[in-house]
Amino acid sequence: MKILHNNKELNKALTGQTNINFVPTMGGLHQGHISLINKSQNKSGITVVSIFINPKQFNDKKDFKKYPRNIQKDLKILKKLRVNYLYLPKYSDVYYPKQNQIIKLNKNEKILCAKFRKGHFEGVLDVMDRLTEIIKPKKIFMGEKDFQQFYLVKKFIEKKFHTKVIDCKTIREKNYLAMSTRNQLLSKNQFDNAGKIALNLKKFKNTLKNKVNLQKLILDKCKILKKKFKIKIEYLELRNIFNLRLSKSIKNSKLFIAYKIGTVRLIDNF
Ligand code: AMP
Repeated sequence: MKILHNNKELNKALTGQTNINFVPTMGGLHQGHISLINKSQNKSGITVVSIFINPKQFNDKKDFKKYPRNIQKDLKILKKLRVNYLYLPKYSDVYYPKQNQIIKLNKNEKILCAKFRKGHFEGVLDVMDRLTEIIKPKKIFMGEKDFQQFYLVKKFIEKKFHTKVIDCKTIREKNYLAMSTRNQLLSKNQFDNAGKIALNLKKFKNTLKNKVNLQKLILDKCKILKKKFKIKIEYLELRNIFNLRLSKSIKNSKLFIAYKIGTVRLIDNF
């Protein structure tokens, strides 16, 4: 694996490469990231993984500060996977080649995490636009765990570039909690409870088949979870996977949740 520390090294290594598969990450790698890399390596072409903790997508400075970082462990994982290139840019590599740009979400996109993390997706789209311009990938691999991110990035990138954004299934812990770098911040008890919440919602989603008045059932479920696990739920909503509009049936729909357990914010979908 070759490490590309800046754009000069990247341009030297990638100029002339026409079939680049790209896996963007913020490090703190786990099996979820590894599944994206495996999927990328199963396609023809070379695999470029990036590790860049993008400050512009953190709406909360404290969250940026405490975001888990473990570059030595990440390097070990990537070397073992025989990834072709790791792009490890500095802030200036990502943000100086192109002037500041203003990215706006449509009004109907200001839902779910876009409503609760103001500026977050604008920051995500900005960095994905820049990384795509720098790396020029044919394919980008992203996780369904962050479904709204996948949805918005796919729409934005595929409109602007000749690049396909490919979704990858959510990888889960043994207790069914979706893997996430932020899980490192959970206590043992919080980790166990978050697993129970995930399992509970998976089962709940299945019970919604053939039921009517789903909104009321979801509202009740929200109250039960809040009380039982002492969590703060930002949203629990059933939405269509093709347009993210609120759904009245589970056909083509996912149940989306964001909640805080202690000070850690988790998201998932079922
Ligand atoms: P992150 O490092 O958290 O920004 O994530 C980098 C990529 O990995 C994103 O496309 C995420 O959606 C994806 N990802 C994170 N967790 C998982 C997971 N548990 N299963 C599958 N993909 C994931």
